Amino acid sequence: MIRVTVWYENMFHPQTQAAVKAMYPLGLPQTIAAFLERDPQVAVRVVTMDQPACGLPDEVLDETDVLLWWSHSGYDLVPDEVARKVADRVLKGMGFIPLHSAHYAKPLRLLLGTSCTLRWREADYERLWCVMPSHPIAAGLPVCIELPEEEMYGEFFDIPQPDELVFTGWFRGGELFRSGCCWYRGMGKVFYFQPGHETHAAYHNPYVQQILLNAVHWAAPTARREQLFFLHDDLGTDELARQGRPVPQY
Ligand code: ZN
Repeated sequence: MIRVTVWYENMFHPQTQAAVKAMYPLGLPQTIAAFLERDPQVAVRVVTMDQPACGLPDEVLDETDVLLWWSHSGYDLVPDEVARKVADRVLKGMGFIPLHSAHYAKPLRLLLGTSCTLRWREADYERLWCVMPSHPIAAGLPVCIELPEEEMYGEFFDIPQPDELVFTGWFRGGELFRSGCCWYRGMGKVFYFQPGHETHAAYHNPYVQQILLNAVHWAAPTARREQLFFLHDDLGTDELARQGRPVPQY
């Protein structure tokens, strides 16, 4: 079973809130949870920023294999301590999938070390091209996905070169964007995915749903326990040997 947590900022102007509700009557994170949970191997919980410990107390993180993160504007309202804790969990193996405007989420900026800024324009049409068809996140997908309405995000996107670039977005204005990017950080995996503006229908699109389900499976922890032990304990090789733990060979 893959234990997924969807973190949601839950903070909109009332007028926008009504538009989000109209597009996603279940709620935006609940919609994501519902399509992921159609896979019997996936269990999802939704948490929000207004909950204690920003929705992410240790007991929630302890039970999270993959964390999806949707945020829009309240980036700085996430305490540094929470952002550091999330980034540290990723280094220890937790999968992390920042969605859409979470390109600027604090934990992602910590993990990538760049500003993560980009160009944007509210309304456009997007073609999402798969540029790495052999990647597990692209499994079962067509060459190109059309999104009739999606916010334009454009280059320059200030990120380190992705370890794997799976999708590139093209917009009617002519802009290009690195829309589906993978990075490996420590024992953890990170997938940033651009579509998902709150008043557009991306999360109702079956291909987008497939991408995110594939991403959850890809990002789930795979590192062996003893590798994690060695990475995060300050034990010398003598002490590891004394305790009967695997000693790395150089
Ligand atoms: Zn947006």
